[in-house]
Amino acid sequence: MAIGNGSRMRSGKKPLWENLTDEEVLSIVVNLVVRGTKLSGVVAHMRDYYGERNFKQSHPYLYLRRAAERGMLAFSLANGRDHVIEQKIRESCPGLKTVEVVNSVVPTDIADRAARRIIEWAQQRGDAGQAALRVGLMGGGTIMAVCRALAPALAGLAEDEKQRLPALTFQALAVGDNVREPLEDPASFFTYFADPWLNPLRRDYIAVHAPVFRAPGQHDGEDREFEQLRAEARSCDIVLVSAGVLDDRHSFLGRLQSTAPDIWQRLRDANCKGDLGRLPVSLDGPMSLSLFEKAPCTLIGLDDLSAMVQENRRVMVIAAPCGDCRAHKAEIIQTLLEVRDKGFTLFSDLVCDSHTGRRMSLLTRGRLRSGGTIGR
Ligand SMILES: [Zn+2]
Repeated sequence: MAIGNGSRMRSGKKPLWENLTDEEVLSIVVNLVVRGTKLSGVVAHMRDYYGERNFKQSHPYLYLRRAAERGMLAFSLANGRDHVIEQKIRESCPGLKTVEVVNSVVPTDIADRAARRIIEWAQQRGDAGQAALRVGLMGGGTIMAVCRALAPALAGLAEDEKQRLPALTFQALAVGDNVREPLEDPASFFTYFADPWLNPLRRDYIAVHAPVFRAPGQHDGEDREFEQLRAEARSCDIVLVSAGVLDDRHSFLGRLQSTAPDIWQRLRDANCKGDLGRLPVSLDGPMSLSLFEKAPCTLIGLDDLSAMVQENRRVMVIAAPCGDCRAHKAEIIQTLLEVRDKGFTLFSDLVCDSHTGRRMSLLTRGRLRSGGTIGR
């Protein structure tokens, strides 16, 4: 690779190749590319302007890869949100406090937007004098992506901004559902916030260790530590919750298709559309956990989420495309909107990808046209 000879850098008035360090070549190449220069133009520039005749067609790719590996290529959406679809969802569901439809189907873009929203809330609470803020984490991969986006966003705040934020306590409200995928265990999300660059922001963590599924009512009132965690969980100021579609084989309930097909079929027969924070929801509202021999273990139930919304706490549903097959989440989000009409206010805020939003707005238009309920 024709890289600049940084270690033997010599002074010189002309910007000739032998005067450039590797870092400087990297900077030249990336600057040209992000300003719209074609890669052939980059090569021509390096040859003609800097005099490096050996700069090959493949070299810009190598520099770009190196820049990406080092996290130097930050991307932000130029047209971040789809306000038309947002407006349609708001009209369909006026009780929602915020609706954000991110103009992307890349899960990290949705996570970035959710992280920004959380920081705004934390700043508002800090400015209002609130000393501590408890953030509940109820989900797997999507919530992991939000934490992975939130930690560097917090680290990037100025020191006085960090000091103005309330102390953050992150509390796991669900347990990891896939022992082969430790990254999806809520306790592992905490590691993102261990970064010393977040200092002086104060943060604390509450993990939960329990079986992923347990018999309904099992240990109720007996397991003191678990009951204590449940009581604490109800005091979360903000709950971040993900949703999954029953028919998606990669969602929490969708995986039952292969691991417990009887239960999956039972849910389907009962008109289950998917889960909110691991718990099943149908068009009639939250479903009874008696459909399971062992029910998904969460520290709070959907009735708790509903009560928390009534108490003006924030329950944010984050819907990004499936991490495995990129399927949208319109069916379950539409169901959650429909059950709000029936009095089950399970969430207060929504952040979703544009594919989910577009599919939902189509369903919504159908609903408005027919005057009835759609999606059945
Ligand atoms: Zn999937």
